[in-house]
Amino acid sequence: MRNAKNTRMCAVCRKRADKSQFVKVCEINGEIVVGGTQPQQGKGVYICPDCVLEAIKRKTLSRAFKKEVSPETYSKLESYGQKKDN
Ligand SMILES: [Zn+2]
Repeated sequence: MRNAKNTRMCAVCRKRADKSQFVKVCEINGEIVVGGTQPQQGKGVYICPDCVLEAIKRKTLSRAFKKEVSPETYSKLESYGQKKDN
């Protein structure tokens, strides 16, 4: 386990891992940004790739950000979930 400050928790299964293991979703100027590389502003949610489909099903993002999340955002999230490094 690396530096604890890089540890994040999956919003779906609550597994903890290094933040590089997760798909990051954050809200920047009111926009929900999936896989953003900018320094995080405001609230951020981390989801492991294995949980992406579950997050979509449960509308985890809508709940986390307390607002409507567009289907485009969810489909972008889905594309991140299918990406596997191994
Ligand atoms: Zn997970």
